[in-house]
Amino acid sequence: MSIPTGKILACVNGVIGPAESATVSVLDRGHIFGDGIYEVVRVDKGRLHGIDRHWRRLDRSLRALQMPSLDLNLLRSQVDATLAASGHCDAMVYLQVTRGTAARAHAFPTDTPANTLILVQHFPDDKAALREKGAGVITHPDLRWARCDIKSINLLGSVLAAEAAKRAGCVEAVLIREDGTVTECAHSSLFAVVDGVLRTHPLDNRILPGITREIVLEIAADLGIPCRQKALRSDELRGVEELFLTSTTSKVLPLVTLDGKPVGSGNPGPVTGKLRDAFEAWEKADAQRTPSAAALNAGEL
Ligand code: PLP
Repeated sequence: MSIPTGKILACVNGVIGPAESATVSVLDRGHIFGDGIYEVVRVDKGRLHGIDRHWRRLDRSLRALQMPSLDLNLLRSQVDATLAASGHCDAMVYLQVTRGTAARAHAFPTDTPANTLILVQHFPDDKAALREKGAGVITHPDLRWARCDIKSINLLGSVLAAEAAKRAGCVEAVLIREDGTVTECAHSSLFAVVDGVLRTHPLDNRILPGITREIVLEIAADLGIPCRQKALRSDELRGVEELFLTSTTSKVLPLVTLDGKPVGSGNPGPVTGKLRDAFEAWEKADAQRTPSAAALNAGEL
């Protein structure tokens, strides 16, 4: 189901207004070359979850692509202002930075300021039931480029995989490289349990350093769950005991079918269940440590 664009609030280079009537130049390099980066942040009771980690990753993406320098404090205040103007407490914030507006030429333009875009939309957490019963995924070739560690707005490889998953009635696509390496999903990180050990692809140029992935690894270490950051091979994937994905919008989501066949017992496994519950408890505790002004005002914590 698509959300009506009229319900989305935009902030383009600091100017807040309805997304439907917000405009960027046709010469924006994001539009012409996909020359930009982004972040997606979940807002729960007015609080931007994991926001410091998102700013660190945004900064890393900006540096990796040698983007024009940007006042991140100003951007932070624009995110806060747009969220406040939206009036939403449960929301999703999309934040994009492109290499600015310039006549079309591949190499970087000189002295061109970045263009920034913030979108805020209502985002109720409607996946709680799915996180209990688990979801299905398909496998799909990993068609993406060699710098998946940068959160670039060039997402065609992920778009094609996500569409294939949707047509198969599944929530995600597990991406497999030509050499048989399992990397991650189209828009989520991937974890498996193999011989009782948590497995996920190591941080390198082939995967996005997922923020939920990072937190889940910290929680697993705290819980004493053995973990190995080593890529799975496609032939191992069929025999895993458990499988789950993680992302800002889905949290920890058990995967119970792979290409229509059951994963392990066909139900969310015990390690997955433990991490799913521990992640949600971690988020609640984190919100208590640094509550949002909106939550304090509403007496919701
Ligand atoms: N991997 C990819 C390719 C993604 O696009 C995303 C989220 O957009 C993730 C993993 C999950 O990252 P995060 O937990 O930071 O949302």
